[in-house]
Amino acid sequence: MSSAEGRSQKVIPSQLLRGQKALVTGANSGIGKATAIGLGRAGADVVVNYVTGRDEAEKVAEEISSFGVRAAAYEADVSEEGQVVAMMEWMIAEFGTIDILVANAGLQRDALLADMTLAQWQKVLDVNLTGQFLCAREATKEFLRRGVVPEVSRSAGKIICMSSVHQLIPWTGHVNYAASKGGVQMLMQTLAQELAPKRIRVNGIAPGAIKTPINRSAWETPEAERDLLRLIPYGRVGDAEDIAYAAVSLASDLMDYVVGTTLYVDGGMTLFPGFATGG
Ligand code: NAD
Repeated sequence: MSSAEGRSQKVIPSQLLRGQKALVTGANSGIGKATAIGLGRAGADVVVNYVTGRDEAEKVAEEISSFGVRAAAYEADVSEEGQVVAMMEWMIAEFGTIDILVANAGLQRDALLADMTLAQWQKVLDVNLTGQFLCAREATKEFLRRGVVPEVSRSAGKIICMSSVHQLIPWTGHVNYAASKGGVQMLMQTLAQELAPKRIRVNGIAPGAIKTPINRSAWETPEAERDLLRLIPYGRVGDAEDIAYAAVSLASDLMDYVVGTTLYVDGGMTLFPGFATGG
């Protein structure tokens, strides 16, 4: 989805993140793309990480640059330690520092347990969980080195871990994904506990069903969308902008006292709507 297909992001205040440097992983598609654009609209300079799809990443960076801030695409596989270390070194050399990390990159490799290969299990854990660990670690080294710069932000750094409602809701046929997001929740909370005394804020976002390429089959046909809507009390499937708005807010000083929280952005999916009429 391009931002033009979703709602306008023009509602984002353009000075909210002025002077801050943000890295969004997996930012050439879906939620990461909308979030990178949202952070740029809010005045941040943005590094658009991607692993494949250079052209789309360059386009996202171009769109962000049109807001009068700096943006650049950078290729790195978040599950590869050397590539993450190199990306952070590059960002600090080129952009000066990092203030905001949105650890968003993620994927699915679905199968029922008996059919799931070790490779499917490992790939999802490597990208969704280890990738967040590596990016958070490298960003934190810079946050700790630099500390708080009061003219820029009240905190020394912000980490937003992109989780999922499946950190809470078990999901048959997706044990690798659900386990990775359960891991992300505890990664986020533990880092929040460890880093809060250093004035680093770590929080999570748990999207519900958002229209992006990762889950196309769940919303592409009217029948699939109707089935999906049964799980969403608010009566609409989310779009990537819903998550971008949450990420921009969480990254800003408006949320400076929010530490170690998961913001569920899910139209009420985690209200267990099946119990509205039964149970
Ligand atoms: P998407 O497939 O559009 O985007 C995922 C991005 O991650 C892509 O840019 C992809 O190239 C990138 N990526 C994958 N492996 C990578 C790697 N090794 N290194 C760097 N980048 C890599 O899907 P999306 O829906 O935008 O997903 C973004 C995040 O949101 C994921 O963490 C996903 O689990 C989470 N999420 C999505 C939904 C939803 O309904 N779409 C719901 C809950 C959580």
